[in-house]
Amino acid sequence: MSTLDHLEADSARGGGVLDPDTITNAASWDAARGGAGAAIAAVTSALAGTPALAAVRPPGHHALIDRAMGFCLLGNVVIAARAAQRGGAARVLIVDWDVHHGNGTQAMVEQDETIRFVSLHQWPAYPGTGRASERGVGNIFNLPMPPGLEPALYVEALWDAVSQATSDWTPDAVLVSAGFDAMQGDPLAGFTLEPEHYADLTRRLRTRWPDAPFAATLEGGYAPSRLADGVIAHLAAI
Ligand SMILES: [Zn+2]
Repeated sequence: MSTLDHLEADSARGGGVLDPDTITNAASWDAARGGAGAAIAAVTSALAGTPALAAVRPPGHHALIDRAMGFCLLGNVVIAARAAQRGGAARVLIVDWDVHHGNGTQAMVEQDETIRFVSLHQWPAYPGTGRASERGVGNIFNLPMPPGLEPALYVEALWDAVSQATSDWTPDAVLVSAGFDAMQGDPLAGFTLEPEHYADLTRRLRTRWPDAPFAATLEGGYAPSRLADGVIAHLAAI
């Protein structure tokens, strides 16, 4: 049975416990397809000239090829990247600023030179992957950092990693795994970003590649009011 068939059957049964963090119900299959479809719609919009954020639940960057993980059912940002490639954007940059490592995204693209993946994440923390030494085929750029630092240090470190990842390689599309659990006050982690820092990073990406289609998919964020403030700042900067 494929992963998709498994998820559909799970929801048909009323849901279950797919991993210790990932509880489903009868609506989860529709939610998963809706999230992936919204990610594709965001890319379709971006390819047509209008950048977009897919404000979806469930998130996607922990989902693996063969199983759900860490609140995630389907790898939304990788699905978006494939949609971008089908639409003519051969080289896709994925920037993951969720506070957790995008292990599922990495697992799906680490053998694929057409995609470069940059992930800033707290270390040590869930899911335990994302060492700087994990380089894929040279297309993976992991940035594990401790909690509690000045926010500018996270911003500059991520930007340095993006610059390193693209020094000899120009993306045809730019995607963001936009988690907002790296904000000050998030209950699951200890980074210190404020809305202005997401706006800054967003503007830098848009300014660096003004002609590249730009789409983002929502990942984590567990303090709802903070999540809202971060998303609004990100959208305004887009
Ligand atoms: Zn997260």
